Amino acid sequence: MQVAQGSILARQDPQVFEAIQKETERQRYGLELIPSENYPSKGVLEAQASILGSKYAEGYPGRRYYGGCQYVDVAEELARERARALFGAAHANVQPHSGSQANMAAYYAVLAHGDTVLGMSLSEGGHLTHGSPVNFSGRYYRFVPYGVDRESERIDYDQVERLAKEHKPKLILAGYTAYSRTIDFPRFRAIADAVGALFMVDIAHIAGLIAGGAHPSPVPYAQLVTSTTHKTLRGPRGAFILSTEPLAKDVDKAVFPAIQGGPFMHTIAAKAVAFGEAQRPEFALYARRVVENAQALAAELTRQGLRIVSGGTDNHLMLVDLRSTGVTGKDAQESLERAGITVNKNTIPYDPLPPAKTSGLRLGTPALTSRGFAPAEMRQVARLLVKVLGRCGDSQVEREVREEAHELAGRYPLPGVDD
Ligand SMILES: *Cc1c(COP(=O)(O)O)cnc(C)c1O
Repeated sequence: MQVAQGSILARQDPQVFEAIQKETERQRYGLELIPSENYPSKGVLEAQASILGSKYAEGYPGRRYYGGCQYVDVAEELARERARALFGAAHANVQPHSGSQANMAAYYAVLAHGDTVLGMSLSEGGHLTHGSPVNFSGRYYRFVPYGVDRESERIDYDQVERLAKEHKPKLILAGYTAYSRTIDFPRFRAIADAVGALFMVDIAHIAGLIAGGAHPSPVPYAQLVTSTTHKTLRGPRGAFILSTEPLAKDVDKAVFPAIQGGPFMHTIAAKAVAFGEAQRPEFALYARRVVENAQALAAELTRQGLRIVSGGTDNHLMLVDLRSTGVTGKDAQESLERAGITVNKNTIPYDPLPPAKTSGLRLGTPALTSRGFAPAEMRQVARLLVKVLGRCGDSQVEREVREEAHELAGRYPLPGVDD
């Protein structure tokens, strides 16, 4: 294990230090295929670890409830300006602490208790904050779920239209956590307009692809766009909201003072850095490579006999249907973890198994692409996955694959740490 030279934490608090060291090693030598994870750059990490986090700055740049905000104002103004420019939006709020808070604020800005929202059901690709009964969203609002077509496993836009006409929602919500196909934003907007609903898109997963031009943008069609900054966008853990000009004031008031207090100014500075990185031409290459890598992984898994939900992917992730292997998502996830490959179990559309077991795995390429993996390496990763899935739980196979995974991952530096 590499021990950081001159680490103060190593001497002051060896227990916390060791947890950080071990997690660094796990990330360095493991193959990370969880589609919502990524590695931010050293610049992002430096801003995130900065002393800006000590500053209280309730309010917005130029209108704070605390003195001494002249420098954090610069950071937040840069973050807002860059977010607007990157996505071509009229307004940006960069204060939400996480994707869930961004959604809570967006709903708060335009909905009243009990209002109807059309959103994708959790079991087919929606997020907890899209109306799950165990989440505030399912308790405070009346969510009507739409899903994917049983045959094509793609969004059934005709069903969305029928449900919209039947339920007359105040808001129609698109943007998902486990959907591998391009979303038709113009079609959604047309449906929303036909029933007088607002259209909101949660781009938590695909923000980086949109910023890099590898997925169409919802900004010209949606009144509200929410996103995380730490998934495909490669920024710090956090979120932001984009809106049209008429909703700007309501969005800002919903974030503060309605649902949050003091903003995390260190994270906001790191968001500014990440938005700046995403404006560079290299980021467009990264976004394209993420998709190429996902398509290479899906194609090789298919060639090896596994079924990919909807037949493939247009973005950074895919769902693998494990039913032909006789292995559950839960068992596959655990065996792969012992083999040095991190994935997450996920329900597939119309899954016969409950969410704690599942018939599927969700795989994504943003993290490995950040490390420098290309399609050839993704095909090698696919072969390692198939080797484990074919002998799930076999400790000999797990050991062999762990050595190969360790060797493969070790060839690529861990961004933000080894560079
Ligand atoms: C990840 C995700 C979120 C929530 O983000 P957190 O930062 O974990 O709260 C919201 N919506 C979607 C679609 C997501 O994928």
